[in-house]
Amino acid sequence: MAIQAAKRMQGVRYAVRDILVVAEKAKAAGKEMLYLNIGDPNIFDYETPPVIIEAIVKAMKDGHNGYAPSAGIPEALDAIRVDSEERGIKNIQDIFVANGCSEGIEVALAALCDSGDNILTPSPGYPLYTALVAKLGLEENPYFLAEENGWQPDLEDIESRVNDRTKAIVVINPNNPTGALCDEQTLKDLIALADKHNLLLISDEIYADLTLDGVRHTSLAALDENAAVLTFNGLSKSFLGPGLRMGWGVLSGPVEKLGNYSGAMAQLLRSRLSASHPVQHAVAPALQNQEHLPALNAKLQRRRDITVNMLNAIDGISCVAPKGAFYAFPKLEDIEPELEERFIAELIEATGVVVVHGGGFGQRPGTAHFRCVFLPPDEILQKAYSLVGDFKASWRP
Ligand code: PLP
Repeated sequence: MAIQAAKRMQGVRYAVRDILVVAEKAKAAGKEMLYLNIGDPNIFDYETPPVIIEAIVKAMKDGHNGYAPSAGIPEALDAIRVDSEERGIKNIQDIFVANGCSEGIEVALAALCDSGDNILTPSPGYPLYTALVAKLGLEENPYFLAEENGWQPDLEDIESRVNDRTKAIVVINPNNPTGALCDEQTLKDLIALADKHNLLLISDEIYADLTLDGVRHTSLAALDENAAVLTFNGLSKSFLGPGLRMGWGVLSGPVEKLGNYSGAMAQLLRSRLSASHPVQHAVAPALQNQEHLPALNAKLQRRRDITVNMLNAIDGISCVAPKGAFYAFPKLEDIEPELEERFIAELIEATGVVVVHGGGFGQRPGTAHFRCVFLPPDEILQKAYSLVGDFKASWRP
């Protein structure tokens, strides 16, 4: 009898990469491909700051190639503490580094939840969370972001979904896939709600320093030292090094509220030995050298403007302007939601423009969207959106 994969795998989906199967077909048919599907700056015209690369090479030459302490080397943890305090986070109880935020988030959820528990995750949101929910045997509990309110979390919707197995609220700020930044009042309301129901706030701030229009990001944990918050950040996005696989978690709040959680995470971190040792040596130099950010954000802002202007000019597409990160989540106003996936697959096959259908991120039932990444150079974006416009005008179900 053939080997049977685990049943839980049926719930593990990652649309951002799954869509590549469709793209491969278009590529094999000889289409010129325009990839607007993956949030990896390094495949376009962005380079990891040299200070980071030099620090890693030096660490390797200096022999830091063995395992590191499980939570991380002191130089990295100290630099993360200073950076977090500069963002206004007080009452820090614990810091750890991981092989990307992805690993850190998995540790955080595995140490927090038993099977059958649930966490509130934003919809639309980053599909890692729903994949982990399936992997860890948790129940899905998505809450909606309100498109008509600039994609802010809908507090009433969140509160209506809290039940006795709910352990945490995940906030992605700036959000992937909408590019929205949470208002300060919304963050304060979230803190009050989490406090009322005794929930941990998991604040994914991996795009915190990629903000547009001169808007400044506010860390959730900075708003209240009495809130129990686990904040994530890392080298992947604002430091242009996703392949370095280096992220970190910062646990803050009163010790009484955090109970035995920190110890549980430490136990799991020990069981996976350590994060990449040489790359940890780049954390302090990275955090202490952020001069690349103004030029990076200016470039992203130009590409965001191209995206929003060109998409909004297409009949039947509307796009809320992203305020951060490098994603837009335009609405397909006149495509039946059940045809969304087919529309996107046919778009890819006909034009070579690779975007991801909205269902891959979650969305309000009855609506249709797609996500595009506006990292590519101006001329690629212009070409891609013009092809999307032509295809949209000619498409018939
Ligand atoms: N969190 C969000 C919201 C993301 O969009 C991503 C990557 O796209 C990650 C986490 C993954 O981060 P890392 O590369 O540090 O694992």
